[in-house]
Amino acid sequence: MRIQTFSILAGSEACNARCPFCISKMTPPLGVDLPEPNVNWRNFKVACRLAKQSGVTTAMFTGKGEPTLFPKQITRYLNEMAEFQFPLIELQTNGILIAEKSAVYKEHLKDWYERGMTTIAVSIVHYDPEKNREVYLPHKKSYIDLPGLIAFLHNTGFSVRLTCILASGFIDNAERTTTLIGFAKKLGVEQLTLTPVNKPDESESFETWKWTNTHHLTGEERVEIIEYLKKHGHKILHLPHGAIVYDVNGQNVCMNNCLSVNPDPEELRNLIFFPDGHLRYYWQYPGSIIL
Ligand code: SF4
Repeated sequence: MRIQTFSILAGSEACNARCPFCISKMTPPLGVDLPEPNVNWRNFKVACRLAKQSGVTTAMFTGKGEPTLFPKQITRYLNEMAEFQFPLIELQTNGILIAEKSAVYKEHLKDWYERGMTTIAVSIVHYDPEKNREVYLPHKKSYIDLPGLIAFLHNTGFSVRLTCILASGFIDNAERTTTLIGFAKKLGVEQLTLTPVNKPDESESFETWKWTNTHHLTGEERVEIIEYLKKHGHKILHLPHGAIVYDVNGQNVCMNNCLSVNPDPEELRNLIFFPDGHLRYYWQYPGSIIL
């Protein structure tokens, strides 16, 4: 059994953004410190041991909400997993708190860097700040200073990945993909990942279902972007879960196909640790439980 990524669900379902494609609609009260969610630390060690013995090279902090709302919990996770020495440790974030409270987060980032974190993956939907505001911060007048955030993360020593959700009306054609790649390259972003927005067959929230159904890439839009990457990029890696990594004019670009159920049972894609101590290998199947 081969596992590529060890995903650690940090934080809770709380998030400081308001993405219309997200099912986590729990928004934290402003100015109030949220109680840190409990973690089954004993099972976390078991998960780390299994990940290590399965050959995992990348541990990724992600969440159903925004992990940076609980920075001390991330530090504790890093302490607990230190003995397993995962070479690559990544944090998936919307970047908002790091950008808005950089003085506070500078100290956390330094701590995380010293404890082995290598990459900060910032999710976006566009290079245009107004488009990002519309999706992430519709309740605010402006979006964060994304170039400033990237420079700040670089200065702290991190490698930066921009994870762009592809959606109709946002990054949905070859021209906008070209501009996005140029934007990433200009800012020295190490990796750019393109992930088409998921259209769930059903969703707990009608609003989410409606938005994703209206904005998922059409077949033509998806083909146009893929053809552009094939024509202008040099294929450098074919990942087992179907994603393809290209070098486009010196910029690393990964086109994710969102195939979350791996057709090859010998090549499991993910090992996912849930804070309650459960361990699964698929997000969408509660039955894919290991312990
Ligand atoms: S940043 Fe992530 S968790 Fe937060 S609302 Fe957007 S998609 Fe959901």
